[in-house]
Amino acid sequence: MALHTVNRRLLDNILAKAQDGGQLTYQETLSLMSLEDNQDIKRVMAAARKIRDRYFSNNIFVYGFIYFSTFCQNHCSFCYYRKTNQLSPRYRKSLEEIVDIAARLAESGIHLIDLTMGEDPEIIRAGKFEVLYEMINRVKAATGLPVMISPGVVPTGVLEKFSSLGVDWYALYQETHNPVLYKKLRVGQSYRERADRRTAAQQYGMLVEDGMLLGVGESTGDRAASILNMRDQGVDQARVMSLVPQPQTPMAGRKAIPRTQEALSIAVMRIIMPDRLIPASRDVDGIKGLQMRLEAGANVVTSIIPPSASLAGVSQSTLDIDEGLRTVPEVKKILSGMGLQVADTADYIRWIDDRKAKRVNWGDDCSEGGYCGRSAARFGSSLSGPAGWVGDSVN
Ligand code: SF4
Repeated sequence: MALHTVNRRLLDNILAKAQDGGQLTYQETLSLMSLEDNQDIKRVMAAARKIRDRYFSNNIFVYGFIYFSTFCQNHCSFCYYRKTNQLSPRYRKSLEEIVDIAARLAESGIHLIDLTMGEDPEIIRAGKFEVLYEMINRVKAATGLPVMISPGVVPTGVLEKFSSLGVDWYALYQETHNPVLYKKLRVGQSYRERADRRTAAQQYGMLVEDGMLLGVGESTGDRAASILNMRDQGVDQARVMSLVPQPQTPMAGRKAIPRTQEALSIAVMRIIMPDRLIPASRDVDGIKGLQMRLEAGANVVTSIIPPSASLAGVSQSTLDIDEGLRTVPEVKKILSGMGLQVADTADYIRWIDDRKAKRVNWGDDCSEGGYCGRSAARFGSSLSGPAGWVGDSVN
């Protein structure tokens, strides 16, 4: 009883500090991420909604998603599209198809076109980046909308070119900020190189998105460290997703985590990064899971995919797509029941412009708790990070 009371008091204090704009420490973040009681989690979600409404009112942004090539040279242990998975659907969309889908998405009222591919060896290894440049030019000309590109790790010169073509966002997900766990997730890929590419994209003037994956063997301490790492990187959009165990992958037999843990992570991300964009992915639980993620403080709906476009999702390759449920009208129905609305495109573009103008030199700015977005080893074993976690000395 006494311990319960103290924890509630601690929770009150942490939430009050967050509401007052205070920057939470690692220990405070860990305390939030350790909550298990549903009522406590609901309190964190309510605090997160209040903070979101303060920064974004009732406006929600919506992103169209075009997964234009599902070929990949990598072996990420969580991914359905890893090179050796014989089950995953493989396709490359033609430029004409991509532009046509982008135009349909724009007409439907989305704010951004997200152009995503696996690390397609015919583009990455062959160095045929002109294909991407032409795609960007044509999609921008056809839609007039902001563009996000998620092509995997590409050379810095390519990032510079993306920026010069007017690409607004570079999305590249670490999935964990524990380099030891990273090695098991992104097999054979450099932790440091991936992180450095986001930094390079920021230096070329693009906004960046990073993300973490839940249910892949991470500790609660890893989750807290990931959130603070994303804050201290200065990422402009931060996403969390739960693993959907996929057939014919090393994680096929894993038990899916309770979705309340994803809701709690979204809420804590909102509290830690009040002014950033936080997606409610449709890719994990489809339209059914959207409300919970918005109740947790998310303010972007991603993975809008037009029906009949023969496109795949990332976590769930087919969920809700052909049923036409990953569309703006379906999202609007959910939003209106929650007192939320799809924002004007002008509001979204204004947000992007303001964010670019405000970019700070985050590398010099460690947080109040002494966390500098690099290593958690110096906090000692009480953080429940895995043994041997040595931060950025790996890779
Ligand atoms: S997560 Fe991306 S890079 Fe990794 S295997 Fe899947 S498509 Fe390839």
